[in-house]
Amino acid sequence: MTVAEIMQTLEYGPAPEAAEPALDWLRSHRNRFGLFIGGRWRAPKSGTWFATLNPADGRELAQVAQAGREDVELAVRAARRAFAAWGKTPGHLRARYLYALARQIQKHARLFAVLETLDNGKPIRETRDIDIPLVVRHFYYHAGWAQLMDSELSGYEPLGVVGQIIPWNFPLLMLAWKVAPALAMGNTVVLKPAEFTPLTALLFAEICVRVGLPAGVVNILTGDGRTGAALVEHPGVDKIAFTGSTEVGRLIRRATAGSGKRLSLELGGKSPFIVFEDADLDSAVEGVVDAIWFNQGQVCCAGSRLLVQEGIADGFYQKLKARMEKLRVGNPLDKAVDIGAIIAPVQLEKIKRLVQRGLEEGAELWQPSWAVPKEGCFYPPTLFTNVAPSATIAQEEIFGPVLAALTFRTPEEAVRLANNTRYGLAASVWSEDINLALDVATQIKAGTVWINSTNLFDAASGFGGYRESGFGREGGKEGLWEYVRRVRPRTPLARKKASPARPQRPEALPPIDRTAKLFIGGRQVRPDSGYSRLVYGPDGGLLGEVALGNRKDIRNAVEAARGGFEAWRRASAHHRAQILYFLAENLSERAAEFAYRIAQQTGQEGREEVEAAIEALFSAAAWADKYEGVVHPTPYRNVTLAIPEPVGVLGILCPDDWPLLALARLAGTALALGNALVVVPSPQAPLTATDFYQVLETSDVPAGVFNLITGERDELAQTLAEHDDVDAVWYAGPQEGQAMVERSSAGNMKRTWTLPQTGPLPEVEEVLRQATQVKNIWVPYGA
Ligand code: NDP
Repeated sequence: MTVAEIMQTLEYGPAPEAAEPALDWLRSHRNRFGLFIGGRWRAPKSGTWFATLNPADGRELAQVAQAGREDVELAVRAARRAFAAWGKTPGHLRARYLYALARQIQKHARLFAVLETLDNGKPIRETRDIDIPLVVRHFYYHAGWAQLMDSELSGYEPLGVVGQIIPWNFPLLMLAWKVAPALAMGNTVVLKPAEFTPLTALLFAEICVRVGLPAGVVNILTGDGRTGAALVEHPGVDKIAFTGSTEVGRLIRRATAGSGKRLSLELGGKSPFIVFEDADLDSAVEGVVDAIWFNQGQVCCAGSRLLVQEGIADGFYQKLKARMEKLRVGNPLDKAVDIGAIIAPVQLEKIKRLVQRGLEEGAELWQPSWAVPKEGCFYPPTLFTNVAPSATIAQEEIFGPVLAALTFRTPEEAVRLANNTRYGLAASVWSEDINLALDVATQIKAGTVWINSTNLFDAASGFGGYRESGFGREGGKEGLWEYVRRVRPRTPLARKKASPARPQRPEALPPIDRTAKLFIGGRQVRPDSGYSRLVYGPDGGLLGEVALGNRKDIRNAVEAARGGFEAWRRASAHHRAQILYFLAENLSERAAEFAYRIAQQTGQEGREEVEAAIEALFSAAAWADKYEGVVHPTPYRNVTLAIPEPVGVLGILCPDDWPLLALARLAGTALALGNALVVVPSPQAPLTATDFYQVLETSDVPAGVFNLITGERDELAQTLAEHDDVDAVWYAGPQEGQAMVERSSAGNMKRTWTLPQTGPLPEVEEVLRQATQVKNIWVPYGA
């Protein structure tokens, strides 16, 4: 085409980026890579290699090693050896290394971008302008946290050796999200890239050598799912950080259960993209393009469900189709291309299968008039309208350029549809009415909500899921907690033997026989089983009976908690604080009684524990309106509000010790932050909790918000952990019980927090973090 013709038609011509520098780099390694262990390249003990291909043309780029169990062993050992020094390296020194990594990646940014495009198939425009700059930003940002760790995370230490497993959709970016915070906090890592996209991780290994990073601080093991599984199972690993499918996340949850390994999971999504009738529709169309055609739709937070207000739906679809007609699919190295290649034939098949299912289930398909290239793995941008909310394509993660559109009439219906998914990773809300947009944003169950924008990421903002999209955050200060632990918990109180040896009742009269029931939905109710358990004191004397709750009681309690949750979470923090203070006040009225009961059941002096419990309730009340979010300084024209939200319905299984203090600290704090609870009290001293009903009943705690079930701890814990309407379980108990809870929680990927059966209680700040999940709401501004 001549320049004159171009001026007439304004057609783009191809603008290919040269592949040569990246191909030269591959050739300099003879197109064959070993494993990066202990700062050196090694051939795999397994003796096997596999090819990594360019998805745009199917050609082999290089052979990479398949790490086996022995290689995993070597890498974990190298990381452990390196940890001895790296974990003690001053923050400032670690900051220098991270800074150097950022600088080096920046200096070789184009090489990384081209290599990523070759290996992954995503357009060069994205690797050049999004992936690699964000990688660099991540290392700079975390260099800062390494520098600040001593002052800002004092009392915390690194975990040790971290196993990190990443997917193929953002190969180097996922590496940066994992490696940068881990190193900043003083951990060493063994990272497994996805088998489809190992190359930029190998170039990164070279950069680690170049900046003089101590050997073993970063180890890179290429391989397939078996390598990942071996890393997960290795006893020398202190934490697993995983990004990928919910299915594999669930396997990892089960495999690590009871091992004591920390776990963070960033899993799938089916994120809603909500367009209200007062939205700027042209901007919203561009938003859709970013939401679902960025990276060919192979994005965990892709806005793959379009929810449009009914009145504007037809017009919006027309605009969207006109825009889709103009999108370009083709050679990812062409700078004028919008949509590159799908990662591999297996993924292309999955997309085609789900599209076929959409047609079978009655949705209407629309694709642009032009055809995609025949060679290589390409799929056109696709719009489905007339999609039923329960349709497979509205529920399953397709992970491809396929958008499922539904309509709604009212904001309430939009929220209901948005939350009608097992996932909770992200959402976009489009409206020029900021009141409406923020109101909807706070009601959507997702870790990130973008208002009038989509797919914005930054190292300063946390990213991660609610529900089956996983748990843990990456980025922001909130992401750092995944890589540290408290140095040593403090013992809350000294223990003193009760004196006199057999405590005296405060009054002289003989006791009236009491039947301690369960507390569900604000009422004392008889247990379903009709059984009671006798409670004895340490000297063998009979103290009373408690009800033996069962599965049905737990189900009723969960239903009551769910019923109470919404209003409780929406109540003002001031209101919740007042109720916590009122609880403390009423407990204080009965201090002597509770002290007596504690002494009776434990043989220990109870007075100090009662005072500590009152203080813990005060502390919970104080935090109710002071556990604040932050405004992250993300580098665009927006504010990013990081808001701690309650987790939801929590099951809390209390430790043996500190029957009243544990109740006040764990349950009181969780309550203060807006959660609704099902509490199983200390098995050793349950009468303290059943006495507590009377305090609850006189303190205006709304019905359903605090439910209490006595009974066999592990039996009740299992029901709670398996229950799909429970959002988190905190379990203090023996190691086998911890393993059971973690394993059983994998059904809906609920969060778990396991604590020792006896001994010191966790610090309040830890309880506050466990009782909340951070939602980041991005709000752009600009006239
Ligand atoms: P996976 O979840 O299988 O892969 C993620 C990472 O985990 C890869 O490094 C993978 O290795 C590794 N892995 C696989 N099996 C195990 C195991 N048993 N134990 C430990 N690690 C393991 O995702 P896929 O790449 O197979 O993609 C499948 C689907 O998952 C996609 O179609 C998409 O729907 C979804 N997905 C979601 C992502 C997200 O960010 N939410 C990212 C990627 C995929 P290997 O590469 O060798 O398989």
